Amino acid sequence: MTTEELFTRLGLADEQFGSRCSSATWERTTQAGVIESQNPSTGLALARVHGCSDKDYDVLVTDLQRTQRSWRTVPAPKRGEVIRRIGQALREQKEVLGRLVALEVGKIHAEGAGEVQEMIDMADFAVGLSRMLYGKTMHSERVQHRMYEQWHPLGVVGVITAFNFPVAVWAWNAFIAAVTGNTVLWKPSPKAPLCAVAIQHLCNRVLEEAGYPGVFGLVTTDRVELAERMVADQRLPLISFTGSVAVGRHVGEVVGRRLGRSLLELSGNNAIIVDETADLELATSAIVFGAVGTAGQRCTSTRRLIVQEAQFDKLMPRLLAAYAQVTIGDPLEPHVLMGPLIDAAAVAQYRSALDTVTRAGGEVLYGGRVLSRPGFFVEPTIVRAQNHWEIVQQETFAPILYVMTYRTLDEAIEMQNAVPQGLSSALFTTHLRRSEAFLSAAGSDCGIANINIGTSGAEIGGAFGGEKNTGGGREAGSDAWKAYMRRQTTTINWGTELPLAQGITFGGAEGGHHGASC
Ligand code: NAD
Repeated sequence: MTTEELFTRLGLADEQFGSRCSSATWERTTQAGVIESQNPSTGLALARVHGCSDKDYDVLVTDLQRTQRSWRTVPAPKRGEVIRRIGQALREQKEVLGRLVALEVGKIHAEGAGEVQEMIDMADFAVGLSRMLYGKTMHSERVQHRMYEQWHPLGVVGVITAFNFPVAVWAWNAFIAAVTGNTVLWKPSPKAPLCAVAIQHLCNRVLEEAGYPGVFGLVTTDRVELAERMVADQRLPLISFTGSVAVGRHVGEVVGRRLGRSLLELSGNNAIIVDETADLELATSAIVFGAVGTAGQRCTSTRRLIVQEAQFDKLMPRLLAAYAQVTIGDPLEPHVLMGPLIDAAAVAQYRSALDTVTRAGGEVLYGGRVLSRPGFFVEPTIVRAQNHWEIVQQETFAPILYVMTYRTLDEAIEMQNAVPQGLSSALFTTHLRRSEAFLSAAGSDCGIANINIGTSGAEIGGAFGGEKNTGGGREAGSDAWKAYMRRQTTTINWGTELPLAQGITFGGAEGGHHGASC
């Protein structure tokens, strides 16, 4: 399929507008900057997207507020039906959308399609959830009183996403936010504007056909001032932010100052521990997928490998042989396993991390070179390193795997936890006690802890997110929906007396008079 055919299928053009609520309110400003979408496999431009002006931003938020006032009164299962229809449209477009993800951010096509599948899974989950927004009932301590809690929508939810999951992360947030009665304002990464425009087109069509236009809004911009404005905007009660620790920390501070809610999904520095009883075939496949998949540009990518010292000489030849099989190239070619990094800055960071680690005494065991061809290709790289080195403590968003050894599991868990981030972790073992120790309160300190599964590739059914500098947010499955709603505790007195809580008497008569206890 040519790029022209792909664009036609997805309603894209060489030049387009990047901000809208529904197709009826496309913003048409050409004065707020142009974002060039770039193909990282060639370094060449794919298309131009006009950014959003401050004025258009205000119109969008006002539209979303107005739409939310009626959307919140639509019964949740009916809201779920709208998301079901979006899920159906995504199924129909899975192949082409997967290709667009591959084209714009350089994921191999299988991973691009997998990302769209994740959106479909999220839509299915949200449909079910729309009938399961349960509140608890409590037994009141007062006669003829009933207590329960109910959940209401927040309003307009702001969603800011990173480049590396240009469509799925939006779906994690948007589908749950929508079935819980919110409208959504999405600010995608300026490194992946076409993916966002294509998704907005698809949603506009379905929402209009379903009779609910304008539930999802898009603001495309590369102006930090406008992103800052969105974060500080009192009209957005929740900002869900996915990205780096540096930006996320700032977002958390700004939203905290206005006492809004933030949901932070930030960087990881994920480790796989391989013990002396591990199935090395399983471990090798998981390490390669975790460290090389998406060219190391997943928040859950495997960045550290902590190997029991007796296993080192058995595991490394397997791993090096597996790395030698990795084909690098155009992510749309079927045999290719690793595409490019996102841009020249990412290549510079890869280079700089390798310079730093080798200066610190690191030994490159595999790879280490930038490929001399158009686009932003590097070799998947393995470096023997020490956990405490500053560069190892950081997340470098590239396919660099730091390898280190340990003697006892306690030591391995301590190393695994001794980084500022706390997203994903894994232990390969066939030893029951070690597995349980790793999963216990004294084990991994991460939001995700796996046994005999690598660090990357989470299912949507669980709540996704991490601790420490990863930000503490949870998205997608389980009860993550609660972050998109406000809890209301309700007590109903169906009797003829007014007893006070805690048995308080007020004004002389026991439990008899008007009053409140709080
Ligand atoms: P980034 O922090 O550079 O950008 C993320 C988003 O923030 C982009 O949309 C960007 O335009 C926006 N932004 C930039 N400055 C801003 C500001 N001052 N105010 C508000 N928004 C601003 O991250 P990136 O390079 O796009 O993505 C890679 C990072 O994202 C990695 O650290 C990765 O680990 C992390 N990530 C985390 C998760 C997770 O779920 N934990 C998932 C994907 C990516």
